[in-house]
Amino acid sequence: MSGEADLAAVAAEVRACTRCPLATGRTLAVPGEGNAISDVLLVGEGPGQREDVTGRPFVGPAGQLLEELLHAIGWQRSDVFITNVVKCRPPGNRDPEPSEIDACSPYLDRQEQALDPVLVVTLGRHSLQRYLPGARISEAHGRLRRAGGRFVLPMYHPAAALRSSALRETLARDFRGLPAALLTARDALAAEREEGAPRASAEPPVLSRVDDERQMTLF
Ligand code: URA
Ligand code: SF4
Repeated sequence: MSGEADLAAVAAEVRACTRCPLATGRTLAVPGEGNAISDVLLVGEGPGQREDVTGRPFVGPAGQLLEELLHAIGWQRSDVFITNVVKCRPPGNRDPEPSEIDACSPYLDRQEQALDPVLVVTLGRHSLQRYLPGARISEAHGRLRRAGGRFVLPMYHPAAALRSSALRETLARDFRGLPAALLTARDALAAEREEGAPRASAEPPVLSRVDDERQMTLF
């Protein structure tokens, strides 16, 4: 199956899922959406009120800020894939329980496999813990880190930034580092793949790359 078909299959399962108690309180599950061939995956915490009634991620006030932050670096929502650690709204927007995060994580695992992003942007603490267990957001934010075969760029949650103008500044600054972080991550992974490639080859080595590849395209 293609990545896109895999993502659609995960979304269909999520919409019908009853694997954890969050299924009872939801209106609609929110599988995630975006560009199925993007190099960038954004992972938030869980749906809020507006997401719960629309079935789409980040469409409320936090989503509006997220969109502004993307536009400020010349990106669109449709350039990235956006999802959450839990796909159903925790009642009253409480934090998701560890057991709910565990129950839901196979879906995010499969979304990651299908998309195979170069860079994961974590939004908030719960998403950060999944990729960098034990990391503190106050120290980790805005710093590109390696996590397995990918790179992770931790960010504060946009909802937190709506409550604090200082955090909003920090989040905007961290977002401005996103295009460069993506280039760094791509270059590092490409270099590794070349090193890992068989040395003896009938093909001549590639000595120079087309400059276009360096441009800020997302995929
Ligand atoms: N907050 C999140 O973490 N995710 C959403 O989809 C919306 C708000
Ligand atoms: Fe299923 Fe995840 Fe929703 Fe729980 S939060 S019911 S595991 S989709």
